[in-house]
Amino acid sequence: MSGHWEPIVMQVWDTVVTPCDCCGQVVARRQWVVELEEGERRFCGPDCEQLYRSYVVPARAAAPGASGASKG
Ligand SMILES: [Zn+2]
Repeated sequence: MSGHWEPIVMQVWDTVVTPCDCCGQVVARRQWVVELEEGERRFCGPDCEQLYRSYVVPARAAAPGASGASKG
């Protein structure tokens, strides 16, 4: 597990919410932050990280237009 928990500090004037990059659920108190090849991603928990890694990342890699897909 490469991620870590980060607390979310909501300011009164801050209207920006942080949805999970996997399921879209809004994270209110803390977020699971993971460094992926594509950059930093935020999830509602490690479960969503696993789901994201096993589902979203391979799907993107297999998508047409992705460079270097034929490299082994
Ligand atoms: Zn989630």
